Amino acid sequence: MSSRAEIVIIGGGVIGCSIAYDLARQGVPSQIIERDAIAARASGKAWAIWSYPPMYLLTEGLPPDDIYSMPEGSVRPWLELFWLGYHQLPDTALDLKETGGINIGYGELSDIMVAFSEDEEKDGRKSLALLESEGYYEGSWLEADEIRAIFPDVNPQARGGLKFPNFQVEPYQYTLGLAQAAEKRGASIRQGEVVGFRHKGSRVTSVILATGTEVETDVVVLAMGPWGGQGTSWLGKEIPIMVNREQCLKVEVPQPLPPCILADEAVAIIPKVDGSVILGNISETDLQPGFDSSLTEEAKVRILDGAINLLPTLEEARLVEHRGDLEGWPPPPNRIQPVLGRLPEWDNAYIAARLGTLGMMISLGVGQLMADLIVRGGHLPNRVKTMMETLSPARL
Ligand SMILES: Cc1cc2nc3c(=O)[nH]c(=O)nc-3n(C[C@H](O)[C@H](O)[C@H](O)COP(=O)(O)OP(=O)(O)OC[C@H]3O[C@@H](n4cnc5c(N)ncnc54)[C@H](O)[C@@H]3O)c2cc1C
Repeated sequence: MSSRAEIVIIGGGVIGCSIAYDLARQGVPSQIIERDAIAARASGKAWAIWSYPPMYLLTEGLPPDDIYSMPEGSVRPWLELFWLGYHQLPDTALDLKETGGINIGYGELSDIMVAFSEDEEKDGRKSLALLESEGYYEGSWLEADEIRAIFPDVNPQARGGLKFPNFQVEPYQYTLGLAQAAEKRGASIRQGEVVGFRHKGSRVTSVILATGTEVETDVVVLAMGPWGGQGTSWLGKEIPIMVNREQCLKVEVPQPLPPCILADEAVAIIPKVDGSVILGNISETDLQPGFDSSLTEEAKVRILDGAINLLPTLEEARLVEHRGDLEGWPPPPNRIQPVLGRLPEWDNAYIAARLGTLGMMISLGVGQLMADLIVRGGHLPNRVKTMMETLSPARL
């Protein structure tokens, strides 16, 4: 049994859906093949905050074993990719409501990174000065009493904090909205597990599903999240992808929190637009040798303790959900560099993977660039070309 789709996208997470969305906006139909359901994995469980992009300039010069370190020369191209999507989010939220029929819980809020020690304060102020020297003035330093004016119950040892603007969405609705808007404009969604490919020379001709069905295609895009390495191994050369397990808690609080993320080096407290609050881990990594996505009591206790330390009134919070899933990361030392582009050995096979812990916030930029690359081939504007060269799998 076989069918045909001009472009097959494997994976119905935020990345696959974002690529389908941008292709559809250009009038190019695609088919998303998802083995579970749209946004069933990390893309439906994220905190889904969109940090102020230039913050990541601060990753330049971090020691190689730091969670946010990136290889020299790659921060700025990556920042451009980030900006591209960041600026599109407000309009996209409207389009997903009108075309996709979904309210994605878009919200604007601030993010305060609290400093407790003299060193943390020094680092925070230095970071702000660095951003200002680059021409970004949207951040500011808050003194302890200014933080207390927003969060009267913040840990009394807070010395001050760095404040930036931020966006947020609801991850499940956002991903589903992208899929549904793509569908309305001609994309299709199919349930099935891809287990291999057929090819003629250097062209993939069809994808093979676990049921034995084949889908003939002109272009295939691997957007399989942490499982992307499996996909590339079927094509002859496995791209190394590390698997990190990320967990968070959703709680209900007796009094609504102000529209402001409160974070320190251990945890983030994120008020969502529906009044609930997400408590997330910041600094701990949980790399997995396999694909174990089970939730752990240890993570739950650690996140709760950290959040209560930062904002003691959270003692009264009621746990509503403990959730989490696997993220695909680049191997160290570059933990936040995605790989995007055409697989060099193949004429018509593309990958968008290793999105790490920031895949949600760069999803619109990734969708747009991947769609442009697929539709326009090599003819990308110069600025974008440089960026895509930096992130291309050909560099691996
Ligand atoms: C708790 C948590 C908090 C997070 N917070 C944020 C945040 O605030 N901001 C941010 O930017 N990012 C955040 N992230 C990271 C973000 O969620 C991920 O980077 C992003 O969702 C990755 O999207 P994806 O589409 O690549 O992968 P996934 O969501 O994993 O989707 C991949 C899909 O491919 C499917 N698939 C795999 N193999 C096959 C196959 N053989 N056949 C068919 N289908 C297949 C899977 O079923 C899955 O649905 C967070 C993640 C977690 C877990």
